[in-house]
Amino acid sequence: MKILVANLGSTSFKYSLYNGDESSLSLVARGGYERVTDYGATIRDALSSMQAEGHIDSVDSIDAVGFKTVLGFEKTGCVAADESVVADLRASAELAPAHNPAYANGIEQFAKEMPKAQLVALYETAFYQWASAASRRYAVPKAWYEAGVRRNGFHGASHKFVAERSAELLGREDVADRVRNLYVGGHESFEGQPLRVVSCHLGGSSSVTGIKNGVAIDTSMGLSPQSGLPQNNRVGDLDSMAVTYVMKKLGLSIEEVERQLTKESGLLGLSGKSNDVRDIWEAVEAGDKDAELALDSLVYGIRQYVGSYMFQLGGLDALVFTAGIGENDTGVRERVCQGLEDLGLKLDLEKNANTRGEETCISAEDSRIKVYVIPANEELVIARETSRFLSHNK
Ligand code: AMP
Repeated sequence: MKILVANLGSTSFKYSLYNGDESSLSLVARGGYERVTDYGATIRDALSSMQAEGHIDSVDSIDAVGFKTVLGFEKTGCVAADESVVADLRASAELAPAHNPAYANGIEQFAKEMPKAQLVALYETAFYQWASAASRRYAVPKAWYEAGVRRNGFHGASHKFVAERSAELLGREDVADRVRNLYVGGHESFEGQPLRVVSCHLGGSSSVTGIKNGVAIDTSMGLSPQSGLPQNNRVGDLDSMAVTYVMKKLGLSIEEVERQLTKESGLLGLSGKSNDVRDIWEAVEAGDKDAELALDSLVYGIRQYVGSYMFQLGGLDALVFTAGIGENDTGVRERVCQGLEDLGLKLDLEKNANTRGEETCISAEDSRIKVYVIPANEELVIARETSRFLSHNK
């Protein structure tokens, strides 16, 4: 089976071609384009390169194209990327302006260029569809909820991968199997021994998700990816009254408030220096107090969510770090795990300090709660879910 994963931006297009079946997919080609103005021509060019390089015989040898769609009002899960998906992406574009129009247009172009391939949309919100109404509803009037104001959650592909991989690492094939079947078989009741995991996706964009028996119970991101932890330059959680307050107090327009919350807040806003933790650590080492505060706030936020989900889950079996910061930032991991020995979590400081980017268990031998670094591979996740969709919809 050949599966193309299409990563679409407003003026960019990146692709990865996988070959194999669900459990043995391997990357065979990858490429990308910037400053795209004509998506049809760019897709044709990418297909010609794959053909010239001998990866495909013709356009028709690609069985499916997988898209990591962000958010829809009506849709979630892993579904056929048809006209109704395109219409829903457009209808909900206000909440994901950088992504939804690009995917709506891209899916239409692929449908034209590759009429025989099955197009599949894997929503970033998909992993949260079984979380309780209590965790998903905001305390707003019902009309707001009906207009789409709810906790959607994001980074679903990454957290679901962590749910599956952590279950495998813990020798819990029953749970891993449940995760594999979630989008194709649905959420069936689970009778086995409970498995409780908290997954920390920490990168340019960060979220923490609580997972019970392979299914998300809650996540730190809400209606939009502006919520939860302090992000690179996006605000994270904020009292909603702050918006109207600064509009009146500082005379800011709604557009200016939006710009500052999405471009000048988060780690950049707190540190006043950079949105990248590597620069922030450098400034900390030079004695910069604002940089120290940015780092402290990030760690505080992570611990707040981990603690909350540990309580909701009634305990914890594994804590997982993934994505750019989670995989590489030994200092952030050490601070997140500090002082938790009484709760049964003990980091192996040396293993932690030596782990960057590779899958490793970094907890001490005698730690009841396991701590893992699991590298994120979102393209592979999309290819895998697309392949599962195909096998179940023959
Ligand atoms: P991601 O969004 O998963 O690609 O992660 C990107 C972020 O990860 C960057 O903004 C950095 O803050 C962080 N990052 C990447 N590499 C490292 C590293 N070697 N050490 C610490 N942080 C890193």
